Parts: sequence; C-alpha cells; structure tokens
Amino acid sequence: MIDLSNKLNSQQTIAKPLSINGIGLHSGLDVSMKLYPAEADYGIKFIREDLTNNNIIEALWSNVTNTKLSTTISNQSGASVSTIEHLMSALSGLHIDNIKIEIDGPEVPIMDGSSIKFVDLIDQTSTLSLNKRRKILKVKKNIKVENHDSSVELKPNNQFSIDFEIEFPSKLISKQSCQLQLVNGNYKTDIASARTFGFERDVEMLRSNGLALGGSLDNAVVVGESKILNSDGLRFKDEFVRHKILDSIGDLYLAGAPIQGYFLGNKSGHYLNNLLLRSLFSDKNNYEYI
Ligand SMILES: [Zn+2]
Repeated sequence: MIDLSNKLNSQQTIAKPLSINGIGLHSGLDVSMKLYPAEADYGIKFIREDLTNNNIIEALWSNVTNTKLSTTISNQSGASVSTIEHLMSALSGLHIDNIKIEIDGPEVPIMDGSSIKFVDLIDQTSTLSLNKRRKILKVKKNIKVENHDSSVELKPNNQFSIDFEIEFPSKLISKQSCQLQLVNGNYKTDIASARTFGFERDVEMLRSNGLALGGSLDNAVVVGESKILNSDGLRFKDEFVRHKILDSIGDLYLAGAPIQGYFLGNKSGHYLNNLLLRSLFSDKNNYEYI
C-alpha cells in the first residue's frame, strides 16, 4: 500500500515495475503501458515504444500541444502521447515524483474513465523513498486566466486546495461545486473514481470528427436528455465536478512539481489549465521552490 500521508519530504518512485492494458478513448486503439521506477530528479517521462527515434516525451506544461477534449504532450520531433491527464492525476494524488512510462501507442488507455485503475495498479506495489528532497512549487502571486465565461486561478495558500464550479445546460448536471484540500489520502476516496462524462447528443459529432472512437458506457458517464444512460448510475451525486477536479489535478502536475497553492476553476478545462501554468511560469516572481 502506498503511504498517502502528506508529510513526504523525500522524492518518491514506485518500488517495482507495473503494467496495464486498455483502449484509448479517442483513438479506440489497444494500448499497453509499463511503469518503471526512476531515479531522483528524473521526473515523469513517457517513452513511445512503437517509435524507434526521439521517442521520449517529458510530462511538462511546456510540451502540451493539444487540449481539445484531453491533454496531449509532444516532443521536439513531434512524437506525442494524448489523454495523459487521468494517469498524471493518479501520480499526483499518490505523490509519485519520478516514473518512466513506456507506452506502445499514441494514447494512454482510458480504463473506466477515472483514475482509480491507475491508483489500484500503483497500490499493488509500494513507493520507494529516494535520497533527495522533494521540491514543492509555492505560488507567490495571484494568477488568473479567462476565456469567455470560464476562468482558472492560482492563489498563495499553505497547502494544495481546490475549489471548482461547473454549469451545464442539462438538468442532470446544472450547477455543481466542490471544495477540497488534498490531505491524508483523500484523493483516492473522494476523487479517483469520478469518471469522465459526455452528452449523448454529442456522440455522433465526436465520432464523425474521429474522436471518442473508444468511448462507451464502460469508460464514461453518458448524459442523455432525461437520464444517465449508465445502468449503474453515478458513483457520486456530484461525480461531474469531481471529475473536473481529477482532470485539473492531472493537468497541474505538468508543472513538474507538486503545487502549494489554492486552485479555483470555473467552467474550465484542459485549455485553461495549461494557460494557467504558462502564465505562472512566465514570471519568476510568481512562484518559488521550497
Ligand atoms: Zn478527464
């Protein structure tokens, strides 16, 4: 079992190699992924096993090349890996700083649409404390980015806290908000199993654009006009906003270090999350490492 206390001063990796298979939500392709322990300061890197050259992609905000429906990162040679946010979220929630991820296709498997399968996978082993201090990115100034009626903000705070609000023109979702502090392992119980969601009315449009080809009721909550189409219903009454928090935790982990700050999201998503990090790193006075 992974130690989820927040008093982790040293960098962590996984103790043993792990592997997992699944299909890509958007590509519909079968993918197999292997996770390996990595040394201190290695960070999080994806290795595209199906490519022979220049196949290493660092999981960093500056490598984000697409934020349409999911987060994609690419290296200088154009090798990319998409839908990384749920895996990144699990790594953040479990405080894994260093890990090498080998993947044999262009998209991280969607599993059940949440990050719980990644959490359970990593929970099969233990974490290994490395002989080097963790660096934490402390937010020093208020940073806000907006797009139409959506916004995201980071504010100085003494821990990582999240406040998220969504509003959709569907009576099954309407307005939802959720506030939480990520402490004492509550990521696993409160966030990890919240699934991604989509609207039945959008499915045809997505498919005709070559998206959501692997999507099904096994890996997403599908919202119909008058009911949730999944036979088991929702996992949380406010599963939708919890999933937006899950996504934000994953996107923010592309900062390259855990963030100490207060994150506020309002009807936002992958695009604004990345813009927020770009804005944060645009001025060295905005942050410090502690
Ligand atoms: Zn998501």
